[in-house]
Formats: sequence, structure tokens, C-alpha cells
Amino acid sequence: MSADYNIFVTEETVEGADDGPLAGRTVAVKDNISTEGVRTTCGSEMLDDYVPPYDATVVERLKDAGATIVGKANMDEFGMGSTTETSAFGPVENPAAPGRVPGGSSGGSAAAVAAGEADLALGSDTGGSVRNPAAFCGVVGIKPTYGLVSRYGLVAYANSLEQIGPLAPTVAEAAELLDVISGPDERDATTRDEAADSDYASAATGEVDGLTVGVPTELVEGAHEGVRERFEATLDDLRAQGATVEEVSLPSVEHAVEAYYVIAMSEASSNLARFDGVRYGQSGGFEGNWNEAFSESREAFGEEVKRRILLGTYALSAGYHDKYYKQAQDARAWVKQDFDEAFASVDVLASPTMPTPPFEVGESLDDPLQMYLADANTVPVNLADLPAISVPAGEVEGGLPVGIQFVGPAFGEAEIIRVGSAVEN
Ligand code: GLN
Repeated sequence: MSADYNIFVTEETVEGADDGPLAGRTVAVKDNISTEGVRTTCGSEMLDDYVPPYDATVVERLKDAGATIVGKANMDEFGMGSTTETSAFGPVENPAAPGRVPGGSSGGSAAAVAAGEADLALGSDTGGSVRNPAAFCGVVGIKPTYGLVSRYGLVAYANSLEQIGPLAPTVAEAAELLDVISGPDERDATTRDEAADSDYASAATGEVDGLTVGVPTELVEGAHEGVRERFEATLDDLRAQGATVEEVSLPSVEHAVEAYYVIAMSEASSNLARFDGVRYGQSGGFEGNWNEAFSESREAFGEEVKRRILLGTYALSAGYHDKYYKQAQDARAWVKQDFDEAFASVDVLASPTMPTPPFEVGESLDDPLQMYLADANTVPVNLADLPAISVPAGEVEGGLPVGIQFVGPAFGEAEIIRVGSAVEN
């Protein structure tokens, strides 16, 4: 039963078209993706009773493809977190590792797939929120190239970084779902034509003979020992299947977490300004003073969201803008350039998805900085707008899932799907 893991914020069934590529398949949709007539809370008290009047493009495409939506999946509030513990609706439990967090922020989506509550799921990935819970719950998750999937109807957290992405039990099924949701959308001007007639599902051939896998040493060094062992064993597997593995260096990634959090919080402070009780969100009531009315309504945000709005506002303020925001943008450009250089000599890059096994419930809540550092391997990919996949790579410590991440060049989804499927062999 889903109630055991607190997977869904809202359990409601929406039937899709009679036939299509996803006919007969059930899908859990992260609760920051708009569903017409079905409450969409973003895991926040602020949107407790918000019912969107329209479908996100990806939801429209799910319905057209014949999928059945089974509910809106629990998540960290507005996508801000790595454990699903910042949800106003309570934490999700990890079905694959009792007593541990499912990862986040798309923890409900990954848990739905891991628990068999849905065949497939949609999450969103701003700095790792599809790949992190995929790794922690032992399922597959894909973060598409920026612009591959429409963000129309996705409630924005940090719009220059995020993409909606699929979660599934296998690489082939995740690719199938990606085929349905990807491709240009006239309602999102950042979408591109590349995936118009995609067939990613057929790329899951498990064929890696002749492929060169680069391993950025910076993304492996600090990892938990058991995680490293699983990572090395998976690389050995790929070598045995004909792939070549070589070390590469991405010096800029040491600054990626700082740059990511400055940019993400800055964008969040702007994007979340619309939750003021007038345009969106709980109304605090008006008693003659708008400032008071706004601040009262913004009490509905949780701690983590408030912290980020404050820090983001600070980073963007006159006098500090050059010191924080501009520096972070420079670092972002450097990260992109490092990846470009690496892809001149390798086909894909590989690292552990998360540097540790899933945390214990409650472990990271009191230490936000520790939680931010757990994103070290996932955020560089968002800064560089690149595609990445997380695939299960075994377990440590008697059953804690570990994920391996493959990063591809822009619009190199087929490449990472191919190597991901070889891990399943
Ligand atoms: N953990 C990261 C954050 O809190 C990533 C979240 C996400 O991808 N939505 O910002």
C-alpha cells in the first residue's frame, strides 16, 4: 500500500487515450507538474488547495500516449531538497531500504516505481532530483539535455537548470517514456527540434563495444568506499563488454556546488515571488497594509524554502550581485567548457550518482550544508545543460542501493541510454 511509504500527495486516477505507446501503463507524476483538475501542491502548504486549470505539456503527451496517471507524487517543497523530507506532507520512506530516505526531490516518483505503485514516473531535475532518488531507490532515472523536454506547466524552481525526466525499473522503459515526453513545444521557447522524432527506446541495445568511457577523478575521490567499489566493479563489467575506460579531469567541478546553489537560489527568489496570496498561494488576508498581507501569506513556506528565498534575494541585491551571482555564472561557463573539452576525447563520462548510500531518515535535516554537498556529482550536469542517466549498480551494506551516472554530450541521450543498458546486462 502506498500509504506505508507516503508516496502520493494526491491519489487520483486519470485515464489517457484508448491506445498509444503507453496504453495499459500506469504513471506517477511529480506534484510540481500541472494536472488539469487535479490538485498540484509542489509539496507545499502554500499550494495546499491549488488546482491547475490546464495540463503541463508532458501530461498532455502522457494522456495522448494512452498512459493512466495514478497520482501526484510527494516531493521536497518546490523541489528544494535531496531527501523528500522538506515536504509539507511528511517524508517518503524508501521502499528499497527501510529506515532510509528515498532521495529527492523526486522521492515520491522514485519510490512509486520501486514499490510497484506505478510502472513509470515523471520527476524534475534541477540539480539531481531525478538521478538522486533513482540511485537511492534502485531504479533508473534520466535528466534530459536542457531544451529536450517542455517545461510548460512545470512549476519553476530554477528555470535555467531544470528539466522534467523519466523514472522506470529499466533503461529501456525510461527511454520509452522519454520518447513520449520529449520534442519541441511551441509553448516553451527553450525547447529544440532535436527530439522531434526520437527513438531512444531502440538505443537500449546494451552495445558498448568500442565505446570510450571517461571517469572524472574529481567525482570519485570523495565517495564512500562501498560506493566506489560498486562503481569500479561496474566499470570492470563494461570493460569486459568491450568498452575502454580512461581517467579525465574536470577541475571546475570543485566549484560546481557553490555556483549551483547561488544560481538556483537566485532564480528561486524570483520564481517564487508569485506566491504572494494575490497571484498564487494562501492569502493572509488584507487589513490595510500590503507588505503585511504579503509577508503573512509567505508564512506558508517551509524553512528550507524561506532560507533559499532569503539567500537568493541577497545574492541578487545591488552591491552583492557581482560578488555572488556573476561569479556563479562565470563558474557555470567554466564547467560547461570543461565538459566540452572532456567530450573531445571520450564518448560518455561516468561517476557514482551519489557519493554515499541513502541517508538515514532525519540525518541531513539539521545540516543543510551537508545536504547541499551530497549534490556534488549531479549539479555539474545541470550547470552544463547536459543529459545524464542513473542506473542501479548493485548494493552495499546489506541492501542499500547504489547508482552509477553516465553523462553525455548535449543531445547525446542515445549514447547514455546505450551504455546504461549495458550495465543491466
Ligand atoms: N538537491 C538539489 C536542490 O535542493 C536539487 C534539487 C532538484 O533537482 N530539484 O536544489
